[in-house]
Amino acid sequence: MKRMFAATLVLFSLIAPVLAVDMSAEINAATAKAIPQVIEWRRHFHQNPELGNREFNTSKMIAEHLRKLGIETRTGVAKTGVVGILKGAQPGPVIGLRADMDGLPVTERVDVPFKSTVKSEYNGQTVGVMHACGHDTHVAMLLGTATVLAGMKDKIKGTVVFIFQPAEEGAPAGEEGGARTDGKRGCDGQSKDRRDIWHSYKRSD
Ligand SMILES: [Zn+2]
Repeated sequence: MKRMFAATLVLFSLIAPVLAVDMSAEINAATAKAIPQVIEWRRHFHQNPELGNREFNTSKMIAEHLRKLGIETRTGVAKTGVVGILKGAQPGPVIGLRADMDGLPVTERVDVPFKSTVKSEYNGQTVGVMHACGHDTHVAMLLGTATVLAGMKDKIKGTVVFIFQPAEEGAPAGEEGGARTDGKRGCDGQSKDRRDIWHSYKRSD
């Protein structure tokens, strides 16, 4: 619990430039309230990992929650990616926070109540699937951050973009995936702002 709280708070230090005043106390209180749900999400994603370019349920759950928060939500970015755009009440800079979403073709051997027993096909073989790289925690923490910030929209000077990136570990053989997919196509081949969002992400990776 403490570790998840501390890790989620780190995300808030990144968005300090778009906060109107020092909101540490308010953020701490709202984060503490969100943490039980962050842990629940993390366990859910851990138990239900999906391989790169196949993060269909992960993506659906993320998009549903962002929409419920009233955050402008775009889906199908680089195949299964999701981008949430939270516009603050006042003008200011745009800050991107990013989490990767995909699990790995690894069989889980640790016996925890939320252990993954998922199997999938990867490069022609049946494999176990596991969040062995922590993307379950990344998604849960970013959803928690979105929850907290959506509740203080009036005090945000600027825009916070939540980027949920698919296939960070690389796409299966013969497929494109991850950041490069949309970078090449201009994110979705349509709008400049999405391309800029993606390029900002690529610089910080
Ligand atoms: Zn990873």
